[in-house]
Amino acid sequence: MHILIIEDERRLATVLQRVLSEEHHTVDVAFDGTTGLERAASAGYDLIILDLMLPGIEGMELCKALRASQVQTPILMLTARGAVEDRVAGLQAGADDYLVKPFAMAELLARVAALLRRGRSVDSSQTIQVGDLTLDLLRREARRGDRIIELTVKEFALLEYLMRHPGQVLTRSQILDHVWRYDSENVSNVVDIYIHYLRDKIDRGFAHPLIKTVRGVGYRIQA
Ligand code: CA
Repeated sequence: MHILIIEDERRLATVLQRVLSEEHHTVDVAFDGTTGLERAASAGYDLIILDLMLPGIEGMELCKALRASQVQTPILMLTARGAVEDRVAGLQAGADDYLVKPFAMAELLARVAALLRRGRSVDSSQTIQVGDLTLDLLRREARRGDRIIELTVKEFALLEYLMRHPGQVLTRSQILDHVWRYDSENVSNVVDIYIHYLRDKIDRGFAHPLIKTVRGVGYRIQA
């Protein structure tokens, strides 16, 4: 699943990102409300973890703005304020659940899992399709035509990212940010290497390759 964390406490954001990545989620982080809102409104996330006190746009505002623009992604709000009226205000602003800091990681994971389950029953998009290539996000399985394709965790994450943006050119650094999150400069050929692996599994032996190189820019997937 694709999760966005909007949290300005960098240490907490980093821990959350690591823990959720270990659960095989693809995790993006925004450290302020303005960037968070931009990302939340543009990319198709399955869940947003939203801190309340943020620089730029505050969590409550951000939540209202997303709901006003018809973004229905489940939102788990994090906050240091535990008073009943704060929780009620959060839920009224359109959050789906509420967690008071400090919290146990196990509780966060349980709530994330519950929200993702709930999201799935509302939104049936648990598979992404490009041409005859299908990615089953629940079963973590790729299939082209009748052929089931075994993918490693990174290959899956890379393919999921490409398939969530069909026809769109993604630069190496965008791919690095989303799939690897390293500081990009010196490792940029890791993207090329994994694209090569993916092509080998997805396109080899098929008349119409789906993964295209856009010279000097990056890659896109298109039927
Ligand atoms: Ca904060």
